[in-house]
Amino acid sequence: MKQIAVFGSTGSIGTQTLDEVRRHPEDFSVCALSAHTNRWLFFEQIREFRPRCALLSGTDLGEVPEDLRFCQFYRADELSLMARECGADQVMVCVSGVAGLDITLAARQAGKTILLANKETLVAGGELVMQACPEEKGLPTLLPVDSEHSAIFQCLQGRAGNPVSRIFLTASGGPFRTWPREKIALATREEALNHPTWHMGRKITVDSASMFNKALEIIEARWLFSVAPEQIEVVVHPQSIIHSMVGFADGAVLAQLGVADMRVPILYAMTYPGRMDSGVPFPDFAALGQMTFEKADAERFPALRLAYEALRAGGAACCELNAANEVAVYAFLQGWMPFGRIYECVEETLSRLGALPAATLDDIHQADFRARRTAMELLHIDYIR
Ligand code: NDP
Ligand code: MG
Repeated sequence: MKQIAVFGSTGSIGTQTLDEVRRHPEDFSVCALSAHTNRWLFFEQIREFRPRCALLSGTDLGEVPEDLRFCQFYRADELSLMARECGADQVMVCVSGVAGLDITLAARQAGKTILLANKETLVAGGELVMQACPEEKGLPTLLPVDSEHSAIFQCLQGRAGNPVSRIFLTASGGPFRTWPREKIALATREEALNHPTWHMGRKITVDSASMFNKALEIIEARWLFSVAPEQIEVVVHPQSIIHSMVGFADGAVLAQLGVADMRVPILYAMTYPGRMDSGVPFPDFAALGQMTFEKADAERFPALRLAYEALRAGGAACCELNAANEVAVYAFLQGWMPFGRIYECVEETLSRLGALPAATLDDIHQADFRARRTAMELLHIDYIR
């Protein structure tokens, strides 16, 4: 029986992770849960899964119901303590935003295996995180959950030491795939939140519309698979059946296919190197009829260009890109600015700050803070919740 801690249990990935635990009660037990503000669902989950530890980071815990007193509640600043004391074998990091970085490093310091859904962790602190996650006894201590990276990781099983020549990162293209640039610039919140193939949290759904999600995934892939940025090619594949592909020296390309359902990569990380029933059916290929591919357009979606530029700039540039994007998405979701301003805000933040140092966790926190401040100044925002 594996003990699993879920950080971000009330979110889209968190609840799907708990669905898989529910499906395999003989194999997994939840030892810790964390949420940010959704107190009601958090308490319901504790009632059902009976973890020994829990942490609510973004709001007052208030009175703990009588029937939940078996669980030890930690304060937001006791993250590392909970990571040490929870008895987890695996820690699912599925909070949203850069908060995933501290959680991942704290859990690694406590010797846990990380199941990483949160891409901002590698975008902000890729080098530090990879240093903290060496293989142990021939097994990885960091397993990707993001569907594209899980696909690449699955394609790499059994590669017999052959190096990767190319990574083909697939993208659905999002709701604005066929829109001209001027129309994208004025897209509304409802249009941006209307993703054609995936149902996800609001931040990542907006990122999918702007293709900042793919930009973050390029950076994530660079660190996870230790490849140069030029080896990563984004391919638009609107049906979202191929989740990504890997090319080798001889021209062979391996792909991982399946229905667009996060339960597959979530459960694969939980059961690696084995596999179990995730509850997800095979694709109906005959009904699907065809799979199509298009070139990714960095003119209409400047996020893609910005990702390669930030990787080339090095230092904390990727962390700054992420921070500015988080601020801009927040402002867009509040209805304070048009969609196209997201790109301008990120680009302007990067050009104002340049690549700040990123040698230590402190440097990264500093860069994140400065990029947020700069983006907020640019957008005339005083305060973000
Ligand atoms: P959601 O917004 O649905 O959920 C986020 C979770 O994190 C919630 O439990 C939330 O708590 C918690 N949370 C929010 N802010 C903080 C914070 N500052 N500190 C600690 N916890 C916080 O997000 P998703 O599940 O969609 O995404 C989670 C991560 O996984 C993201 O990094 C995303 O990029 C990545 N991912 C998601 C995919 C998906 O299909 N959803 C696919 C691939 C990657 P509360 O609800 O209590 O406020
Ligand atoms: Mg993805």
